[in-house]
Amino acid sequence: MRELTGKEVAESVYTDIRTTLSDMIDRGGRMPSLAVILVGDDPASQAYVGSKQRMCEKLGYSHNDIRMPADTTQDLLMEKIHALNADDSVDGILVQLPLPSHLDESEAITSIDPEKDVDGLHPVNLGRLVREEETLYSCTPYGIYQMLNYYEIPIRSQHVVVVGRSTLMGKPMALLLAQKGIDATVTICHSRTKNLGEITSQADILIAAIGRPHMITSDMVKDGAVVIDVGINRVDDPSSSKGYRLTGDVDFAGVSGKASAITPVPRGVGVMTIAMLMKNTLLASQRRQGL
Ligand code: NDP
Repeated sequence: MRELTGKEVAESVYTDIRTTLSDMIDRGGRMPSLAVILVGDDPASQAYVGSKQRMCEKLGYSHNDIRMPADTTQDLLMEKIHALNADDSVDGILVQLPLPSHLDESEAITSIDPEKDVDGLHPVNLGRLVREEETLYSCTPYGIYQMLNYYEIPIRSQHVVVVGRSTLMGKPMALLLAQKGIDATVTICHSRTKNLGEITSQADILIAAIGRPHMITSDMVKDGAVVIDVGINRVDDPSSSKGYRLTGDVDFAGVSGKASAITPVPRGVGVMTIAMLMKNTLLASQRRQGL
């Protein structure tokens, strides 16, 4: 069984980014710039925003972290997004999700200029994905695709089963792998799927994006399958200093006895999400600078 760690793949993405950056600067361009809006003080969101900020600093991107109080109104949030859309020095805009419940996430995402939507969640970018046009791909599915390629896992004509149909993860993942030229045969499962285990057991590549700790057990996995665990779940762990630990949607111990390759949690897919955000910010910047 091969453990597919994200760090190695992310490093290769960063190496490519650095090469492109130095070429951009040689050709008279400027460094990419990313603006991140964080509303409220959710600790997990603060940690994610902090990691994005650190990565921008490492790569030399300009970054603008905008913190808004938890009681921010929709109007104020929209005003901020519109100002960033109009700001020519900003290449990428990301609204950290989830937003506090009184705010309309969909309205916020839809108001971002699609050319600056580095999270790839704007309906225009999702529509381009459906139409197989050049787009900014949603970061986590894009990162998983990079991982599969890096580890030379065949995708063409393979049966991929994606468990989860969210707009953030399951649907863009399925659409990306089913594209002409990538050519997987994709099945999407969700909470109303009958006989889930029978379907997941047919997968050559099984992608779990559910949000339920250890839901995928070894009896649901075919011998030799490649298993990608997207889930990030907090479970109580009194032995940890934080009182919890992170675990995936896959029962790693059981499934690793059957899978030919599997991603761990943490150190698996999660690392790739930020790498692809950096890649999308670079792409958006290149397009906007005409480089
Ligand atoms: P959502 O809650 O939006 O979607 C979960 C999906 O799982 C839904 O489609 C739901 O079905 C399905 N589901 C729930 N229960 C079952 C069940 N019993 N059987 C089959 N399907 C089920 O979550 P996300 O897609 O946003 O995220 C999924 C997981 O991935 C989470 O743990 C999240 O933290 C993690 N994640 C990790 C990222 C990373 O960077 N590694 C990035 C994004 C997410 P239905 O539609 O019917 O409700």
